Amino acid sequence: MDIAVIGSGIAGLVTAHLCQKSGINVTIFEKEEKRGIDAHRLDLDPGPGFIDVPLRVMSPEGWKTVLAVAKSLDVPTFAVGIGLSFSWNDGETWLSIPQVMWHDWVLPIPSSFRYITKQNLSYLMSFRKLAKILKSINMSTWQDSYTLTDFFNDYRINRHFTDRVLIPVLQTVTTCERRFISNYPAKFILESLANIMAREQMVRFAQGTQDLASKLASGLKLISGSPVVDVSKVGDRFVIRNARGDTATADHVVTAVQANHLNVLNQVIEHQELNMLNSLSFDRGEIICHQDTRLMPKDRRDWCVLNYRMNKELSEDSFTVWVNPIEPSLKSTEDPIFQTWNPTPNLQIDRVLSRTILERSVVTKASAPAWLALNNMASDGNRRVHYCGSWSYPGVPLLESAVRSAVRVAKLVGAKIPWENPAYGL
Ligand SMILES: Cc1cc2nc3c(=O)[nH]c(=O)nc-3n(C[C@H](O)[C@H](O)[C@H](O)COP(=O)(O)OP(=O)(O)OC[C@H]3O[C@@H](n4cnc5c(N)ncnc54)[C@H](O)[C@@H]3O)c2cc1C
Repeated sequence: MDIAVIGSGIAGLVTAHLCQKSGINVTIFEKEEKRGIDAHRLDLDPGPGFIDVPLRVMSPEGWKTVLAVAKSLDVPTFAVGIGLSFSWNDGETWLSIPQVMWHDWVLPIPSSFRYITKQNLSYLMSFRKLAKILKSINMSTWQDSYTLTDFFNDYRINRHFTDRVLIPVLQTVTTCERRFISNYPAKFILESLANIMAREQMVRFAQGTQDLASKLASGLKLISGSPVVDVSKVGDRFVIRNARGDTATADHVVTAVQANHLNVLNQVIEHQELNMLNSLSFDRGEIICHQDTRLMPKDRRDWCVLNYRMNKELSEDSFTVWVNPIEPSLKSTEDPIFQTWNPTPNLQIDRVLSRTILERSVVTKASAPAWLALNNMASDGNRRVHYCGSWSYPGVPLLESAVRSAVRVAKLVGAKIPWENPAYGL
């Protein structure tokens, strides 16, 4: 049997890897020059330093499948200490917590006595209240139409806390604008938050995403550097063609690209199915790697791994990751290196190392019906066009949903899942 996989993000690579391991012939197409999952990694010259773009973290609680994949391939991870600072756009900081957790304890101690204010104490209380609620409620019974704003209102979560602290933090999880977050179905976004707030430190791949990617891609046939522009059928087989004219024929096509790039399927799927895919929403933003300290709190003692900035009207948000403390290959680099998501448009950033536009699906009321339809399709043994990718699986689109969707498709085409045994804790 031959399978063509379109897209080499984590979903495409995991599907391809599982199929290949199970004796299925796989050809994987990618529009970027290299594998999609680590295509934007930045190697610093000179020296061994590198930056994963985007820089992704996982919690052991919520990313069980991704971590099982990593374990099955001997890809090590390490715990990262996360701190949070909050500043206005002029760099004036009003809260800085350099370490949110000590070992497995949540212990948010501010960087200075000046941050022990009435306002910040009320935020801490709200945080505790939220943590308690998240532990005690059963979110699975909530309707998809029950939004995060509904939850804030019903549970009387302090408005200042949500606007200035919680929503910025949720922007790191979802990388989408405030207006999308307020309307997010509460159960999905709060489930992710509960996983992140679980009493275990976040982890990263010790040698970057490339380590996982190269092990997943080992021995795979990858046709990269050109987007797939056409999928057609000749007899019983699919013909997949990229813009450069490379082709492959296959019995099954697995798409592992975002749903808004699936018009290439218009010859091989029903109109109705294409409409369902087109009903899903996506947001895009820019990630800039740079060395401009002006995007950080003015006082260096306030610098944290995650630094949020906003204007006082709360209409402009960005966050900057200080990469050095959480990337071992940069630990001896004295020059600080940052990754900023969506800096305010009029800001001239100095010492830019790279700029990358990334897209991400936004969960809306339309998502759950689409997920249901996709799940039904995934149990139809006669299907030969399949969908995977983080957007296609219930929940906030993260590495975990991408991998779960890949496992679902791989099983459908008959692949074995090596980590589905008790040794992997799933
Ligand atoms: C800034 C940012 C930070 C994030 N941080 C985290 C995090 O900390 N933890 C976490 O779990 N998740 C994080 N995520 C989300 C996570 O990165 C994604 O959910 C996941 O990588 C999606 O993987 P995927 O395989 O579904 O899709 P993608 O990675 O989008 O892969 C799709 C691939 O298809 C390729 N492609 C598209 N069109 C074509 C075509 N026509 N022909 C061939 N190839 C094509 C693309 O180039 C791409 O390589 C973050 C996302 C962003 C944007």
